[in-house]
Amino acid sequence: MHLIVSNSDKEIVGKYCWHVAFGETAEKTLKLKISDITSGSIKPKFKKQYIREDKNEKELVYVFTAVSDAEFLPSPDDKEWEKRDFEIKCWESSAKRTLSACHAMMMYRNNRTLEAADNLVAMLEWLNDECGQDVVPHEYGAKCPNCGRFFNQDHAFRKPVFCEDCGCMLRW
Ligand SMILES: [Zn+2]
Repeated sequence: MHLIVSNSDKEIVGKYCWHVAFGETAEKTLKLKISDITSGSIKPKFKKQYIREDKNEKELVYVFTAVSDAEFLPSPDDKEWEKRDFEIKCWESSAKRTLSACHAMMMYRNNRTLEAADNLVAMLEWLNDECGQDVVPHEYGAKCPNCGRFFNQDHAFRKPVFCEDCGCMLRW
């Protein structure tokens, strides 16, 4: 869902986007989110809806516009949005996988067979792969794809599994 706010001079003062949680309406989410970005009261108008599709997902996007001269929190730039989007996705898939791992653990506790153990190991390996991002190659080493931390050649040679700064899982 997007909200585009302009002032009475028709200058755009903020562009925001939010995810509508499953089971919520766009209007309800909008009302809630507006209170996060301004203390002024604004009356958003529904402008259009369209389907955005990329290689990972397909989503229905609602676009609202509003005119207001109230003060707004600055809107994050695109890069920040990408990062947030990535974090949300990681978090969602992590929750699902944690549940599956818990389930496999319970099965193993109840029934200590090789099959149950293999199942548990498969689940843990799966957890391990999650959210790994390709390291960005660099002339003198490599860089973390998430926070941009620089790894010198010695450091890159050791191929750390996680970035020490942001905790992002690294794929080499
Ligand atoms: Zn990092």
